[in-house]
Amino acid sequence: MILCGKTVADKIIKQTAIYTRNSGYPPPRLSIVSIGDDEASKVYVTQKMKAAAKCGIECDHYSLPSTVTTQEVVAHIHALNNIPDINGIIVQLPIMYGLDQNAIIQAIDPKKDVDGLTYENMGKVSYGEDGLYPCTAAGIMRLLGENGITVEGKRVVIVGRSPLVGKPLAMMMTNDNATVTLCHSKTKKLASIIKTADILVVAVGDPLLIKANMVKKGATVIDVGITRVNGKLTGDVDFENVKEVAGAITPVPGGVGPMTVALLMTNVVNAQYIQNPR
Ligand code: NAP
Repeated sequence: MILCGKTVADKIIKQTAIYTRNSGYPPPRLSIVSIGDDEASKVYVTQKMKAAAKCGIECDHYSLPSTVTTQEVVAHIHALNNIPDINGIIVQLPIMYGLDQNAIIQAIDPKKDVDGLTYENMGKVSYGEDGLYPCTAAGIMRLLGENGITVEGKRVVIVGRSPLVGKPLAMMMTNDNATVTLCHSKTKKLASIIKTADILVVAVGDPLLIKANMVKKGATVIDVGITRVNGKLTGDVDFENVKEVAGAITPVPGGVGPMTVALLMTNVVNAQYIQNPR
């Protein structure tokens, strides 16, 4: 089974558009802050702005120069925090140019943190409380659910422990009663651990790292990695060969990427509700 994130994401975006038209709230508003003029970042910002437009979410983009300081970005975020009709704020990641990425992320008001990366929202993920959950991890959970793949009692192996993907996903899977092993660059005998997975999630950024002989027959394989190789978006999984062994697998592109964007949109709508409960 090919797990088509694009199909599920399109459905979520349509549902979100219906919600924003009928919610009785003003259109939600998302502010995207980007730093420098990295080409990949520009593509991701454009995708998010297009999705927002489809959802009836107003979207501003603040493009700051690469010469900006951490303090200046933090001051900019504080100013956005204080504008009442801005419901969601994200900073396009990764932040380069020697800036303090975590200081910048933690400057976002947790109620407007629609990437779900502040300490408060990460804490809610770990306790399994309602909140704004990191979009990629939430997108993976939704993609599995929409395809009838349950995690309870399953052995899950996640490769990559970033706060963006692996760590929150490990907590979400654990909360849903999976048995999770979280691997990273220092993990010993990685291949033998991967082979035990009923559900394998790979978020490394190393193209074609996972080969068919590493995957258990019938496993669900979720490929988060996106790297541009000779102009082509390439995942961490050798899709063509692994699909012959896997029971279900996400493609790259068209798998996890669109789910991340769709779940960002639902977080903006949820943030508006959190800020204006009724
Ligand atoms: P990251 O912060 O660089 O984290 C990479 C993780 O992979 C780290 O935990 C690292 O281990 C681990 N790792 C590196 N080499 C390894 C190896 N050979 N074996 C096992 N583990 C290894 O990256 P990220 O932000 O999580 O992103 C990962 C990939 O996902 C990238 O390609 C990114 O573009 C993509 N991504 C896609 C989406 C989407 O929506 N599809 C969203 C976010 C990210 P250490 O911790 O020990 O360094």
